[in-house]
Amino acid sequence: MTRIETAEVVVTSPDRNFVTLRLTTDEGLVGLGDATLNGRELAVVSYLRDHVVPLLIGRDPHRIEDTWQFLYRGAYWRRGPVTMAAIAAVDVALWDLKARAAGMPLYQLLGGASRDGLLAYGHASGRDLPELFDSVRDHLEQGYRAIRIQTGVPGLKTIYGVASNARSAEPTGADDGGRYDYEPAGRGPQPQEEDWDTPAYLRHLPTVFEAVRHEFGPELPLLHDGHHRMTPIQAAKLGKSLEPYDLFWLEDCTPAENQQGLRLVRQHTTTPLAIGEVFNTVWDYQTLVSEQLIDYVRSAVTHTGGITALRKILDFAAQYQIRSGIHGPTDISPVGMAAALHLDLAIHNFGIQEYMKHGARTDEVFRQSFRWEDGLLHPGDEPGLGVTLDVDGAGKYPYVQAYLPYNRLSDGTVHDW
Ligand SMILES: [Mg+2]
Repeated sequence: MTRIETAEVVVTSPDRNFVTLRLTTDEGLVGLGDATLNGRELAVVSYLRDHVVPLLIGRDPHRIEDTWQFLYRGAYWRRGPVTMAAIAAVDVALWDLKARAAGMPLYQLLGGASRDGLLAYGHASGRDLPELFDSVRDHLEQGYRAIRIQTGVPGLKTIYGVASNARSAEPTGADDGGRYDYEPAGRGPQPQEEDWDTPAYLRHLPTVFEAVRHEFGPELPLLHDGHHRMTPIQAAKLGKSLEPYDLFWLEDCTPAENQQGLRLVRQHTTTPLAIGEVFNTVWDYQTLVSEQLIDYVRSAVTHTGGITALRKILDFAAQYQIRSGIHGPTDISPVGMAAALHLDLAIHNFGIQEYMKHGARTDEVFRQSFRWEDGLLHPGDEPGLGVTLDVDGAGKYPYVQAYLPYNRLSDGTVHDW
């Protein structure tokens, strides 16, 4: 019987910080799992190194469900992003090992392909309409068939998701000219402060979508992320005002810890709703799914306890015709992204996959086999996840302290970012 022989936690920062669990078996197989929690990376490193790795050595790597339950129930302290990212890393690494042992791409073990390729959306943005239109055109040229739209709001300096925002990406705090939409987490000792004004945003955004539809026509699937900024009644108002522009989805329109708040939004708008990138377990979706208050599940494999747990959430959602929209910004490592693509390909209720390209340094450290062809993603057909980690290459980029930004209203009140 095969055993887990080593479990290493690899921290690397090629373009941003990534935490990867690397398991090896006594038969020499290697499995990888993503444990990256943006802005709180080292908490997961400690959870894994100090509390989980000692439990893994000597275990049978084929017992994936048993190991998941052992780590979840056995800790006594359940849920939470740190715990669930750590469990996810173990779970994905075990699925990678099992598929490598079987000599199959992982999606084959999950039931095989349910489609030929995966619809993906990219992030277009601009401070104003001309800059936004250029960004949409650039994404169309790259082959994207669905596009998220974020813009500046008149009167606000820096807001979520707009690529032209200045930010410090280098350890020195100097602006490296990198794109903010690639990585909103700024490297440095303190988070950057942004400003916010919900009424100004609610007045401005419908004019942006009207202009985009006028310029690019009625067919292009358009998405938008409200990034948890609105109250339920404000979110309802926005959803209603965007109805003429036929969005693919409106994401995170209100903080959803209060799941009942979505009842109010739902009563007032037919704009499809997507939620869940900060959720950790199926319990965060219980009301949202069973009452059909959302249309898309946004969880990441990395932050929801791995493939084993996210598959169960998506199966639950499928009973209510709710589809997947797995989280895929750049703080999901190539390992976490590969896990998402294998799951996307296998499930029936796939909706769309968020896809932002990683930087060249990241692609060197994590060698990947996924394909991006004609606007569709495919995880590839190498055994396992199809990702290899260059451990020596990873060692060239040590961890750099970085934080996501935060928000204040004009009177100085801290607001949701
Ligand atoms: Mg989002």
